[in-house]
Amino acid sequence: MKVLVAVKRVVDYNVKVRVRGDGTDVDISNVKMSMNPFDEIGVEEAVRLKESGGASEVIAVSCGPAQCQETLRTALAIGADRAIHIVTDEELQPLAVAKLLNAIVQEERPGLVILGKQAIDDDANQTGQMLAALGGMPQATFASKLEVGGDKAIVSREVDGGGETLSLKLPAVVTTDLRLNEPRYVTLPNIMKAKKKPLATIEASELGVDMRPRLRTLKVAEPAMRGAGVKVPDVRTLVEKLKTEAKVL
Ligand code: AMP
Repeated sequence: MKVLVAVKRVVDYNVKVRVRGDGTDVDISNVKMSMNPFDEIGVEEAVRLKESGGASEVIAVSCGPAQCQETLRTALAIGADRAIHIVTDEELQPLAVAKLLNAIVQEERPGLVILGKQAIDDDANQTGQMLAALGGMPQATFASKLEVGGDKAIVSREVDGGGETLSLKLPAVVTTDLRLNEPRYVTLPNIMKAKKKPLATIEASELGVDMRPRLRTLKVAEPAMRGAGVKVPDVRTLVEKLKTEAKVL
């Protein structure tokens, strides 16, 4: 069974982004970029599946500009077997990514497609769900445990009230949550090996999908500054303030 893992290049989670002066977007020039952390978990899970005999091949796929190849090389260093770069310099919104990934799914016919539950730049949490719908596949989002056996995947997932376990018929889409695993450190020998693994490039325009943005950003602004707190001498004063000033009691 092939496993396809989607990996997105995003601003590194340690970077504090700044809003551009004209309020149109955040400024990401000269900031460190990395693989979306949920996608690292996705690649790790796929590689573990292969190591335990549950998968035969792990394919990493990324959509975006030339620099996405660095992200794909990281996926190959974690242990993916090959990579596909869908090349475009256009702005990609989740629906466009889902359509591009679906084109690859139709071509590669993986038994399992793993995505992150969300990308930490747009926090959209949409692509996996849209891909499942477009490809007519069952989906389990926010996976905290994944087992594959025969033509089924058993997925434990986190929901508001606690946990839920789903049985999905493969091929299926799974999106990763933080508790699924702890990705391994990428070692230097594996980084070297990754340079020789196959990386195919496909022009997004060749996949015949409508990538036009459906959403328009009106304005980007910094969150309001948080005011200074006050110290209260005792619980009674705290309760009083919650009643009279904060009006939450
Ligand atoms: P989002 O719906 O934007 O929060 O993204 C959810 C997941 O979709 C990410 O964690 C990735 O696995 C995948 N994804 C989103 N954008 C891309 C992209 N440009 N290339 C590859 N995968 C992507």
